[in-house]
Amino acid sequence: MPDLIQPSQVAVHVYINGELLVQDRLGGTNFAGDTTGIYPWRWDTTGLRGEQTVTVVLDPDDLILAGDETVENNTASYTVDILASGERPFRETATSWLSRDGRYATVHVLDQTAASRDLSQLVSLTDEAFEEAIGRLGLTPNRLYDVYFIQRVIGQGGYAGGSIVLTYSDRNYAGGIMRQVLVHEAVHLLDQQLAPRAIPFLREGVAVWAAGGHYQPEDLGQRMAALVQAGRYIPLLELVDNFYPAQHEIGYLQAGGLVHYLVEQYGWEKVQAWYGGMTAEGYTSHSAALDATLQANFGKSLAQIEQEWLQHLSQFPSDPQATNDLLATVRYYDMMRRYQELHDPTAYFLNAWLPSPQEMRQRGLTADVLRHPKAEINLLLEVMLGAADATLLAGDYQQANVILNSIERVLESGTVMDPLAKSYEEIVNKTVTMGFEVQRIEMNGNTATAYITSSHRIYLTPLEFARATNHWVLVN
Ligand SMILES: [Zn+2]
Repeated sequence: MPDLIQPSQVAVHVYINGELLVQDRLGGTNFAGDTTGIYPWRWDTTGLRGEQTVTVVLDPDDLILAGDETVENNTASYTVDILASGERPFRETATSWLSRDGRYATVHVLDQTAASRDLSQLVSLTDEAFEEAIGRLGLTPNRLYDVYFIQRVIGQGGYAGGSIVLTYSDRNYAGGIMRQVLVHEAVHLLDQQLAPRAIPFLREGVAVWAAGGHYQPEDLGQRMAALVQAGRYIPLLELVDNFYPAQHEIGYLQAGGLVHYLVEQYGWEKVQAWYGGMTAEGYTSHSAALDATLQANFGKSLAQIEQEWLQHLSQFPSDPQATNDLLATVRYYDMMRRYQELHDPTAYFLNAWLPSPQEMRQRGLTADVLRHPKAEINLLLEVMLGAADATLLAGDYQQANVILNSIERVLESGTVMDPLAKSYEEIVNKTVTMGFEVQRIEMNGNTATAYITSSHRIYLTPLEFARATNHWVLVN
Protein backbone atom coordinates (compact mmCIF):
# COMPACT_ATOMS: atom_id res chain seq x y z
CA MET A 1 0.00 0.00 0.00
CA PRO A 2 1.34 3.48 -0.84
CA ASP A 3 2.86 5.13 2.23
CA LEU A 4 0.68 8.23 2.36
CA ILE A 5 -2.62 6.40 2.67
CA GLN A 6 -3.80 5.26 6.08
CA PRO A 7 -5.46 1.82 6.08
CA SER A 8 -8.42 3.35 7.91
CA GLN A 9 -9.04 5.58 4.88
CA VAL A 10 -9.52 2.62 2.57
CA ALA A 11 -13.13 1.55 2.20
CA VAL A 12 -14.11 -2.10 1.70
CA HIS A 13 -17.40 -3.35 0.30
CA VAL A 14 -18.40 -7.02 0.32
CA TYR A 15 -21.31 -8.21 -1.82
CA ILE A 16 -23.11 -11.54 -1.69
CA ASN A 17 -24.69 -12.36 -5.06
CA GLY A 18 -24.58 -8.66 -5.88
CA GLU A 19 -26.14 -7.49 -2.62
CA LEU A 20 -24.10 -5.25 -0.33
CA LEU A 21 -23.33 -7.06 2.96
CA VAL A 22 -20.30 -5.29 4.43
CA GLN A 23 -19.50 -1.63 4.16
CA ASP A 24 -16.41 -1.04 6.26
CA ARG A 25 -12.77 0.01 6.20
CA LEU A 26 -9.42 -1.73 6.45
CA GLY A 27 -8.34 -2.06 10.04
CA GLY A 28 -5.48 -3.83 11.76
CA THR A 29 -2.27 -5.52 10.70
CA ASN A 30 -1.30 -9.17 10.95
CA PHE A 31 1.99 -10.48 12.40
CA ALA A 32 3.58 -10.18 8.94
CA GLY A 33 2.87 -6.44 9.08
CA ASP A 34 0.30 -6.54 6.25
CA THR A 35 -2.80 -4.39 6.48
CA THR A 36 -5.91 -6.47 6.98
CA GLY A 37 -9.66 -6.03 7.06
CA ILE A 38 -11.46 -8.69 9.07
CA TYR A 39 -15.26 -8.68 9.26
CA PRO A 40 -16.11 -11.84 11.16
CA TRP A 41 -19.46 -13.58 11.34
CA ARG A 42 -21.30 -11.03 9.20
CA TRP A 43 -23.02 -13.40 6.79
CA ASP A 44 -25.82 -15.58 8.13
CA THR A 45 -26.21 -18.42 5.64
CA THR A 46 -29.24 -20.02 7.33
CA GLY A 47 -31.53 -21.47 4.70
CA LEU A 48 -29.10 -20.91 1.82
CA ARG A 49 -28.00 -23.81 -0.39
CA GLY A 50 -25.62 -24.12 -3.33
CA GLU A 51 -23.15 -21.77 -4.94
CA GLN A 52 -22.99 -18.15 -3.84
CA THR A 53 -20.82 -15.39 -5.24
CA VAL A 54 -18.82 -13.29 -2.80
CA THR A 55 -17.37 -10.10 -4.24
CA VAL A 56 -14.87 -7.94 -2.37
CA VAL A 57 -14.31 -4.39 -3.59
CA LEU A 58 -11.39 -2.47 -2.17
CA ASP A 59 -11.49 1.33 -2.42
CA PRO A 60 -14.80 1.38 -4.37
CA ASP A 61 -14.61 5.13 -5.01
CA ASP A 62 -11.09 4.70 -6.43
CA LEU A 63 -9.50 7.22 -4.10
CA ILE A 64 -6.09 5.52 -4.25
CA LEU A 65 -4.46 6.92 -7.37
CA ALA A 66 -0.72 6.46 -6.80
CA GLY A 67 0.33 3.11 -8.23
CA ASP A 68 -3.28 2.15 -8.95
CA GLU A 69 -4.56 3.75 -12.14
CA THR A 70 -7.67 1.71 -12.79
CA VAL A 71 -10.73 0.80 -10.79
CA GLU A 72 -11.04 -2.70 -12.36
CA ASN A 73 -8.26 -4.33 -10.34
CA ASN A 74 -9.88 -3.38 -7.04
CA THR A 75 -12.39 -6.22 -7.22
CA ALA A 76 -12.10 -9.93 -6.42
CA SER A 77 -14.84 -12.55 -6.65
CA TYR A 78 -15.10 -16.00 -5.10
CA THR A 79 -17.62 -18.79 -5.31
CA VAL A 80 -18.66 -20.43 -2.07
CA ASP A 81 -20.68 -23.64 -2.00
CA ILE A 82 -23.07 -23.76 0.96
CA LEU A 83 -24.12 -27.21 2.13
CA ALA A 84 -27.16 -28.01 4.29
CA SER A 85 -26.46 -27.73 8.03
CA GLY A 86 -27.74 -31.30 8.47
CA GLU A 87 -24.82 -32.55 6.38
CA ARG A 88 -22.32 -31.52 9.02
CA PRO A 89 -20.47 -34.37 10.78
CA PHE A 90 -21.94 -35.59 14.07
CA ARG A 91 -19.15 -34.06 16.13
CA GLU A 92 -19.91 -30.59 14.76
CA THR A 93 -23.64 -30.75 15.39
CA ALA A 94 -23.21 -32.26 18.87
CA THR A 95 -20.78 -29.71 20.23
CA SER A 96 -21.34 -26.59 22.31
CA TRP A 97 -19.31 -24.59 24.83
CA LEU A 98 -18.93 -26.05 28.33
CA SER A 99 -17.43 -24.09 31.23
CA ARG A 100 -16.00 -24.98 34.60
CA ASP A 101 -14.57 -22.70 37.27
CA GLY A 102 -11.11 -23.27 38.65
CA ARG A 103 -9.37 -21.25 41.34
CA TYR A 104 -7.85 -18.64 39.03
CA ALA A 105 -9.70 -19.12 35.79
CA THR A 106 -12.87 -20.39 34.20
CA VAL A 107 -12.01 -23.14 31.75
CA HIS A 108 -14.06 -23.30 28.55
CA VAL A 109 -14.02 -26.30 26.23
CA LEU A 110 -16.04 -27.66 23.33
CA ASP A 111 -18.22 -30.62 24.23
CA GLN A 112 -17.46 -33.88 22.38
CA THR A 113 -13.77 -33.08 21.99
CA ALA A 114 -10.55 -34.22 23.67
CA ALA A 115 -10.80 -31.14 25.92
CA SER A 116 -14.27 -32.04 27.27
CA ARG A 117 -13.10 -35.62 27.81
CA ASP A 118 -10.15 -34.36 29.89
CA LEU A 119 -11.90 -31.34 31.43
CA SER A 120 -11.15 -32.16 35.10
CA GLN A 121 -7.42 -32.55 34.39
CA LEU A 122 -7.40 -29.33 32.37
CA VAL A 123 -8.98 -27.38 35.25
CA SER A 124 -6.31 -28.69 37.69
CA LEU A 125 -3.52 -28.06 35.19
CA THR A 126 -4.73 -24.49 34.64
CA ASP A 127 -4.73 -23.84 38.40
CA GLU A 128 -1.21 -25.25 38.73
CA ALA A 129 0.00 -23.15 35.81
CA PHE A 130 -1.44 -19.94 37.25
CA GLU A 131 0.02 -20.77 40.65
CA GLU A 132 3.44 -21.16 39.07
CA ALA A 133 3.15 -17.93 37.07
CA ILE A 134 1.91 -16.00 40.12
CA GLY A 135 4.79 -17.35 42.21
CA ARG A 136 7.39 -16.39 39.61
CA LEU A 137 6.07 -12.88 39.04
CA GLY A 138 5.28 -12.34 42.72
CA LEU A 139 1.87 -10.74 42.26
CA THR A 140 -1.75 -11.40 43.13
CA PRO A 141 -4.23 -11.61 40.26
CA ASN A 142 -6.88 -8.89 40.35
CA ARG A 143 -9.49 -10.86 38.45
CA LEU A 144 -10.66 -14.31 37.42
CA TYR A 145 -9.36 -15.24 33.96
CA ASP A 146 -10.78 -17.27 31.10
CA VAL A 147 -8.93 -20.13 29.43
CA TYR A 148 -10.29 -21.67 26.23
CA PHE A 149 -9.11 -25.07 25.03
CA ILE A 150 -9.90 -25.40 21.34
CA GLN A 151 -9.65 -28.26 18.90
CA ARG A 152 -7.93 -26.38 16.09
CA VAL A 153 -4.22 -25.52 15.89
CA ILE A 154 -3.72 -21.79 15.34
CA GLY A 155 -0.18 -20.42 15.07
CA GLN A 156 2.18 -22.16 17.48
CA GLY A 157 -0.75 -23.63 19.42
CA GLY A 158 -1.95 -20.73 21.52
CA TYR A 159 -2.58 -17.04 21.89
CA ALA A 160 -3.50 -14.65 24.67
CA GLY A 161 -5.30 -11.33 24.57
CA GLY A 162 -7.75 -10.66 27.37
CA SER A 163 -7.97 -14.43 27.82
CA ILE A 164 -5.98 -17.53 26.87
CA VAL A 165 -6.76 -19.70 23.85
CA LEU A 166 -4.85 -22.99 23.58
CA THR A 167 -4.99 -25.93 21.26
CA TYR A 168 -5.93 -29.14 23.03
CA SER A 169 -6.18 -31.89 20.50
CA ASP A 170 -5.08 -35.51 20.33
CA ARG A 171 -3.31 -34.64 17.07
CA ASN A 172 -1.77 -31.36 18.18
CA TYR A 173 1.00 -30.94 15.65
CA ALA A 174 2.17 -27.70 17.30
CA GLY A 175 3.99 -29.84 19.87
CA GLY A 176 5.45 -28.79 23.19
CA ILE A 177 4.34 -29.52 26.73
CA MET A 178 0.86 -28.25 27.63
CA ARG A 179 1.79 -27.19 31.15
CA GLN A 180 4.70 -25.10 29.85
CA VAL A 181 2.54 -23.37 27.25
CA LEU A 182 -0.15 -22.69 29.88
CA VAL A 183 2.31 -21.04 32.29
CA HIS A 184 3.64 -18.94 29.39
CA GLU A 185 0.17 -17.69 28.44
CA ALA A 186 -0.82 -17.18 32.11
CA VAL A 187 2.20 -14.89 32.46
CA HIS A 188 0.92 -12.84 29.51
CA LEU A 189 -2.40 -12.26 31.29
CA LEU A 190 -0.92 -11.48 34.71
CA ASP A 191 1.65 -9.32 33.04
CA GLN A 192 -1.02 -6.79 32.04
CA GLN A 193 -1.09 -5.83 35.73
CA LEU A 194 2.66 -5.51 35.78
CA ALA A 195 3.86 -4.03 32.49
CA PRO A 196 0.92 -2.98 30.35
CA ARG A 197 3.03 -1.16 27.74
CA ALA A 198 6.20 -3.24 27.42
CA ILE A 199 7.48 -4.11 23.93
CA PRO A 200 6.74 -7.62 22.49
CA PHE A 201 10.39 -8.70 22.76
CA LEU A 202 10.32 -8.19 26.52
CA ARG A 203 6.82 -9.52 27.11
CA GLU A 204 7.82 -12.76 25.42
CA GLY A 205 11.14 -12.74 27.25
CA VAL A 206 9.44 -12.50 30.62
CA ALA A 207 6.95 -15.25 29.64
CA VAL A 208 9.73 -17.64 28.53
CA TRP A 209 11.80 -16.86 31.62
CA ALA A 210 8.87 -17.16 34.06
CA ALA A 211 7.75 -20.47 32.53
CA GLY A 212 11.33 -21.76 32.79
CA GLY A 213 11.56 -22.48 29.06
CA HIS A 214 9.58 -21.99 25.87
CA TYR A 215 7.90 -25.27 24.87
CA GLN A 216 9.52 -27.43 27.57
CA PRO A 217 11.58 -26.88 30.74
CA GLU A 218 14.90 -25.42 29.54
CA ASP A 219 18.14 -24.26 31.11
CA LEU A 220 18.06 -20.83 29.47
CA GLY A 221 21.73 -20.05 30.14
CA GLN A 222 23.01 -23.29 28.64
CA ARG A 223 20.56 -23.13 25.77
CA MET A 224 21.60 -19.55 24.94
CA ALA A 225 25.27 -20.59 25.02
CA ALA A 226 24.41 -23.42 22.60
CA LEU A 227 22.67 -20.93 20.32
CA VAL A 228 25.73 -18.68 20.20
CA GLN A 229 28.05 -21.66 19.64
CA ALA A 230 25.84 -22.85 16.78
CA GLY A 231 26.24 -19.46 15.10
CA ARG A 232 22.51 -18.75 15.16
CA TYR A 233 22.56 -15.74 17.53
CA ILE A 234 20.69 -12.69 16.16
CA PRO A 235 22.19 -9.30 17.22
CA LEU A 236 19.75 -7.61 19.61
CA LEU A 237 19.42 -4.40 17.59
CA GLU A 238 18.21 -6.43 14.65
CA LEU A 239 15.97 -8.75 16.68
CA VAL A 240 14.22 -6.25 18.94
CA ASP A 241 12.92 -4.12 16.05
CA ASN A 242 11.86 -7.12 13.93
CA PHE A 243 10.74 -9.49 16.61
CA TYR A 244 7.80 -11.35 15.02
CA PRO A 245 9.32 -11.90 11.55
CA ALA A 246 12.59 -13.24 13.08
CA GLN A 247 13.05 -17.03 13.41
CA HIS A 248 10.43 -17.62 16.08
CA GLU A 249 12.16 -20.06 18.45
CA ILE A 250 15.47 -18.20 18.32
CA GLY A 251 13.80 -14.83 18.95
CA TYR A 252 11.87 -16.17 21.93
CA LEU A 253 14.92 -17.96 23.34
CA GLN A 254 17.04 -14.80 23.14
CA ALA A 255 14.28 -12.74 24.75
CA GLY A 256 13.91 -15.28 27.57
CA GLY A 257 17.67 -15.72 27.81
CA LEU A 258 18.25 -11.99 28.25
CA VAL A 259 15.61 -11.70 30.99
CA HIS A 260 17.09 -14.79 32.68
CA TYR A 261 20.56 -13.21 32.56
CA LEU A 262 19.36 -9.87 33.95
CA VAL A 263 17.48 -11.61 36.77
CA GLU A 264 20.63 -13.59 37.60
CA GLN A 265 22.75 -10.44 37.65
CA TYR A 266 20.39 -7.94 39.27
CA GLY A 267 17.52 -9.91 40.84
CA TRP A 268 13.86 -9.99 39.78
CA GLU A 269 12.91 -6.98 41.89
CA LYS A 270 15.20 -4.67 39.95
CA VAL A 271 14.30 -6.26 36.62
CA GLN A 272 10.62 -6.00 37.51
CA ALA A 273 10.91 -2.27 38.25
CA TRP A 274 12.52 -1.72 34.86
CA TYR A 275 10.07 -3.97 33.01
CA GLY A 276 7.03 -2.46 34.74
CA GLY A 277 7.87 1.06 33.61
CA MET A 278 8.91 0.01 30.13
CA THR A 279 7.26 1.70 27.15
CA ALA A 280 8.23 2.42 23.57
CA GLU A 281 6.16 5.60 23.57
CA GLY A 282 8.23 8.64 22.69
CA TYR A 283 11.07 6.57 21.16
CA THR A 284 11.86 6.13 17.50
CA SER A 285 12.13 2.34 17.79
CA HIS A 286 11.76 -0.51 20.25
CA SER A 287 15.53 -0.89 20.46
CA ALA A 288 15.88 2.83 21.30
CA ALA A 289 13.33 2.39 24.10
CA LEU A 290 15.17 -0.68 25.36
CA ASP A 291 18.52 1.11 25.27
CA ALA A 292 17.26 4.21 27.12
CA THR A 293 15.38 2.30 29.82
CA LEU A 294 18.32 -0.06 30.40
CA GLN A 295 20.57 2.97 30.91
CA ALA A 296 18.07 4.57 33.29
CA ASN A 297 17.62 1.39 35.36
CA PHE A 298 20.96 -0.41 35.17
CA GLY A 299 23.33 2.36 34.11
CA LYS A 300 24.34 0.38 31.01
CA SER A 301 23.46 0.72 27.35
CA LEU A 302 21.89 -2.06 25.31
CA ALA A 303 25.22 -2.60 23.51
CA GLN A 304 27.07 -2.87 26.83
CA ILE A 305 24.56 -5.30 28.34
CA GLU A 306 24.66 -7.39 25.18
CA GLN A 307 28.44 -7.50 25.20
CA GLU A 308 28.57 -8.54 28.88
CA TRP A 309 25.90 -11.15 28.30
CA LEU A 310 27.74 -12.67 25.33
CA GLN A 311 30.93 -12.66 27.39
CA HIS A 312 29.11 -14.50 30.19
CA LEU A 313 27.69 -17.04 27.68
CA SER A 314 31.13 -17.69 26.18
CA GLN A 315 32.20 -19.20 29.52
CA PHE A 316 29.69 -22.06 29.28
CA PRO A 317 31.30 -25.37 28.27
CA SER A 318 29.83 -26.80 25.10
CA ASP A 319 26.98 -29.22 25.74
CA PRO A 320 26.12 -31.40 22.71
CA GLN A 321 22.79 -32.38 24.29
CA ALA A 322 21.72 -28.72 24.56
CA THR A 323 22.89 -27.98 21.01
CA ASN A 324 21.10 -31.00 19.52
CA ASP A 325 17.92 -30.19 21.41
CA LEU A 326 17.99 -26.56 20.32
CA LEU A 327 18.70 -27.26 16.65
CA ALA A 328 16.12 -30.05 16.45
CA THR A 329 13.52 -27.79 18.11
CA VAL A 330 14.20 -24.95 15.66
CA ARG A 331 14.00 -27.38 12.77
CA TYR A 332 10.79 -28.95 14.07
CA TYR A 333 8.98 -25.62 14.30
CA ASP A 334 10.27 -24.38 10.94
CA MET A 335 8.90 -27.59 9.43
CA MET A 336 5.62 -27.26 11.33
CA ARG A 337 5.14 -23.73 9.95
CA ARG A 338 6.10 -24.88 6.45
CA TYR A 339 3.38 -27.53 6.77
CA GLN A 340 0.91 -24.82 7.80
CA GLU A 341 1.84 -22.57 4.88
CA LEU A 342 1.34 -25.42 2.41
CA HIS A 343 -1.50 -27.47 3.88
CA ASP A 344 -3.19 -25.55 6.71
CA PRO A 345 -2.67 -21.93 5.63
CA THR A 346 -5.25 -20.28 7.90
CA ALA A 347 -3.29 -21.64 10.89
CA TYR A 348 0.00 -20.06 9.77
CA PHE A 349 0.91 -17.49 12.43
CA LEU A 350 1.91 -14.59 10.19
CA ASN A 351 -1.52 -14.41 8.58
CA ALA A 352 -3.71 -16.30 11.05
CA TRP A 353 -6.98 -14.79 12.19
CA LEU A 354 -7.29 -15.08 15.97
CA PRO A 355 -11.05 -15.17 16.59
CA SER A 356 -12.37 -13.60 19.80
CA PRO A 357 -13.22 -16.48 22.15
CA GLN A 358 -15.66 -14.42 24.26
CA GLU A 359 -17.69 -13.52 21.22
CA MET A 360 -17.68 -17.09 19.93
CA ARG A 361 -18.99 -18.38 23.23
CA GLN A 362 -21.61 -15.65 23.58
CA ARG A 363 -22.90 -16.32 20.09
CA GLY A 364 -22.68 -20.10 20.43
CA LEU A 365 -20.19 -20.36 17.55
CA THR A 366 -17.85 -23.35 17.47
CA ALA A 367 -16.85 -24.14 13.87
CA ASP A 368 -13.96 -21.65 13.68
CA VAL A 369 -12.07 -23.43 16.45
CA LEU A 370 -13.25 -26.95 15.68
CA ARG A 371 -12.92 -27.42 11.92
CA HIS A 372 -9.55 -28.04 10.38
CA PRO A 373 -8.30 -29.69 7.21
CA LYS A 374 -8.53 -33.48 7.39
CA ALA A 375 -7.37 -34.67 3.98
CA GLU A 376 -5.05 -37.68 4.05
CA ILE A 377 -2.01 -35.46 3.51
CA ASN A 378 -3.00 -33.51 6.63
CA LEU A 379 -3.50 -36.65 8.71
CA LEU A 380 -0.20 -38.06 7.45
CA LEU A 381 1.95 -34.98 8.07
CA GLU A 382 0.27 -34.20 11.39
CA VAL A 383 0.87 -37.68 12.83
CA MET A 384 4.46 -37.52 11.55
CA LEU A 385 4.98 -34.11 13.18
CA GLY A 386 3.45 -35.54 16.36
CA ALA A 387 5.90 -38.45 16.24
CA ALA A 388 8.85 -36.10 15.65
CA ASP A 389 7.78 -33.95 18.60
CA ALA A 390 7.41 -36.97 20.90
CA THR A 391 10.92 -38.25 20.05
CA LEU A 392 12.32 -34.74 20.43
CA LEU A 393 10.78 -34.32 23.90
CA ALA A 394 12.12 -37.78 24.81
CA GLY A 395 15.62 -36.58 23.88
CA ASP A 396 16.09 -38.83 20.85
CA TYR A 397 17.33 -36.13 18.47
CA GLN A 398 18.67 -38.54 15.91
CA GLN A 399 15.30 -40.23 15.45
CA ALA A 400 13.54 -36.84 15.52
CA ASN A 401 15.74 -35.73 12.61
CA VAL A 402 15.06 -38.95 10.69
CA ILE A 403 11.31 -38.24 10.91
CA LEU A 404 11.85 -34.54 10.07
CA ASN A 405 13.91 -35.52 6.99
CA SER A 406 11.03 -37.65 5.82
CA ILE A 407 8.46 -34.87 6.43
CA GLU A 408 10.71 -32.44 4.57
CA ARG A 409 10.83 -34.69 1.51
CA VAL A 410 7.03 -34.95 1.45
CA LEU A 411 6.61 -31.17 1.85
CA GLU A 412 9.17 -30.28 -0.80
CA SER A 413 8.27 -32.91 -3.40
CA GLY A 414 4.52 -32.94 -2.80
CA THR A 415 4.57 -36.73 -3.07
CA VAL A 416 5.01 -39.57 -0.62
CA MET A 417 8.00 -41.54 -1.94
CA ASP A 418 10.13 -41.81 1.14
CA PRO A 419 9.94 -45.29 2.79
CA LEU A 420 9.26 -43.95 6.30
CA ALA A 421 6.52 -41.60 5.10
CA LYS A 422 5.08 -44.46 3.02
CA SER A 423 4.81 -46.60 6.15
CA TYR A 424 2.95 -43.86 8.00
CA GLU A 425 0.79 -43.27 4.92
CA GLU A 426 -0.20 -46.91 4.66
CA ILE A 427 -1.33 -47.02 8.29
CA VAL A 428 -3.15 -43.67 7.98
CA ASN A 429 -4.98 -44.96 4.88
CA LYS A 430 -5.99 -48.18 6.64
CA THR A 431 -7.50 -46.27 9.58
CA VAL A 432 -9.37 -43.94 7.18
CA THR A 433 -10.77 -46.95 5.28
CA MET A 434 -12.00 -48.39 8.58
CA GLY A 435 -13.87 -45.14 9.25
CA PHE A 436 -11.63 -43.90 12.06
CA GLU A 437 -9.70 -40.69 12.63
CA VAL A 438 -6.06 -41.38 13.45
CA GLN A 439 -4.57 -39.15 16.13
CA ARG A 440 -1.14 -40.60 16.81
CA ILE A 441 1.12 -43.33 15.44
CA GLU A 442 3.97 -44.84 17.43
CA MET A 443 6.28 -46.75 15.15
CA ASN A 444 8.69 -49.23 16.59
CA GLY A 445 10.68 -51.13 13.98
CA ASN A 446 8.34 -53.70 12.51
CA THR A 447 5.37 -52.90 14.73
CA ALA A 448 3.27 -49.77 15.08
CA THR A 449 0.43 -48.58 17.30
CA ALA A 450 -2.15 -46.21 15.85
CA TYR A 451 -4.34 -44.35 18.35
CA ILE A 452 -7.70 -43.63 16.80
CA THR A 453 -11.02 -41.98 17.61
CA SER A 454 -14.32 -42.40 15.78
CA SER A 455 -17.22 -40.10 15.04
CA HIS A 456 -19.06 -41.15 18.23
CA ARG A 457 -16.15 -42.04 20.45
CA ILE A 458 -13.65 -39.48 21.75
CA TYR A 459 -11.61 -41.97 23.77
CA LEU A 460 -8.36 -43.08 22.14
CA THR A 461 -8.30 -46.71 21.07
CA PRO A 462 -4.98 -48.37 20.14
CA LEU A 463 -4.78 -50.44 16.96
CA GLU A 464 -1.71 -52.66 16.57
CA PHE A 465 -0.05 -53.07 13.20
CA ALA A 466 2.81 -55.32 12.10
CA ARG A 467 4.99 -55.10 9.00
CA ALA A 468 4.52 -58.05 6.65
CA THR A 469 6.86 -58.53 3.64
CA ASN A 470 6.14 -55.15 2.11
CA HIS A 471 3.00 -53.87 3.74
CA TRP A 472 1.41 -53.29 7.12
CA VAL A 473 -1.33 -55.51 8.58
CA LEU A 474 -3.71 -54.95 11.46
CA VAL A 475 -3.04 -57.52 14.17
CA ASN A 476 -5.68 -56.76 16.84
ZN1 LIG B 1 3.99 -15.48 24.24
